[in-house]
Amino acid sequence: MKALQYRTIGAPPEVVEIPTPEPGPGQVRLKVTAAGVCHSDEFIMSLPEDSYTYGLPLTLGHEGAGIVDELGEGVTGLAVGDSAAVYGPWGCGYCYTCSKGQENYCENAATLGITPPGLGSPGAMAEYMIIDNARHLVPLGDLDPVQNVSLTDAGLTPYHAIKQSLDQLVPGSVAVVIGAGGLGHVGIQILRAMTAATVVALDVNEEKLGLAKEVGAHHAFLSNAEAAERVKELTGGHGAQAVFDFVGIQPTMELGQAMIRVGGDQVLVGVGSGTLPVGMLDKPWESSIRAPYWGYRSELFEVLELARTGAIHVETEIFTLDDAPKAYEKLHAGALRGRAVIVL
Ligand code: NAD
Ligand code: ZN
Repeated sequence: MKALQYRTIGAPPEVVEIPTPEPGPGQVRLKVTAAGVCHSDEFIMSLPEDSYTYGLPLTLGHEGAGIVDELGEGVTGLAVGDSAAVYGPWGCGYCYTCSKGQENYCENAATLGITPPGLGSPGAMAEYMIIDNARHLVPLGDLDPVQNVSLTDAGLTPYHAIKQSLDQLVPGSVAVVIGAGGLGHVGIQILRAMTAATVVALDVNEEKLGLAKEVGAHHAFLSNAEAAERVKELTGGHGAQAVFDFVGIQPTMELGQAMIRVGGDQVLVGVGSGTLPVGMLDKPWESSIRAPYWGYRSELFEVLELARTGAIHVETEIFTLDDAPKAYEKLHAGALRGRAVIVL
């Protein structure tokens, strides 16, 4: 079968021919229909050899959807032909956090060597992929897999980040989204669907600001040194109740810190290399900084329900598997609108 693999540190990913995998006991084989392109892929492919821990060759794709193709021995609860989305942050399924569906924070994953597809295990950018356990497939039903595959990360991650701040986002509040890319443009819609907050989007790219407005941001302006003042002006000088930073570099983290309100939440989602001083006098009183990773298994069901109501959607740019390296080039150039999706 064909697959897109990261094979050499520092080199672009390549389309290669590899053997079609067979599902072992308890596993499920998926005939992949769609796979999303995430900035995290670019992040891991930018790591130098001594800090790269995902194995080589790595079949990319941690956003996946497909049709159940073959059930390994003993698998129940699924049928061949079912359309499903892949819950990616695989856990052991038995520890306390997994018992709550919080497999993204599995207590045993590291010790047991359990890794997400596309981030250690073979991912969704291949004609077939192996799912380690049926519980990691969430039924898509009649949701279109191509239009919705990215909800497994670009939807689930902002959903989880926002859900933890819902108490803050009362009527009259302001929520800021920094970075209106793949995750950010879905985050804006989740904020509009689930809160009464005024939503402000910041980006460095005018086209992304346009997209932010189209998907529901009340205000969208450039992410620069003046942005904090503009947010302060919108809030009577007080600042935002929550800032969701989908970039995470030093300037955006400092910007976030400068615009957060007393008691506000600064939520770091983007995997940049920024850091913040955290001292008693360094930030507004009672503000918090949170760094969430992906989301809970139950939350993927919730995100898909939100899509079913039409409240959220993913703006997609479609590529074939052969053209997948081009999708990464476009992502790198900041030239994608919404999410790139590889259709198989
Ligand atoms: P993306 O490339 O689609 O979007 C990034 C957006 O940020 C773009 O619109 C870009 O123009 C904008 N941007 C760049 N510099 C900016 C700045 N200084 N100020 C404001 N906007 C700026 O990326 P994505 O796939 O949406 O991923 C976003 C980030 O989230 C990445 O760092 C990714 O690795 C990370 N991520 C984290 C998790 C998690 O679980 N925490 C999950 C998925 C992705
Ligand atoms: Zn991702």
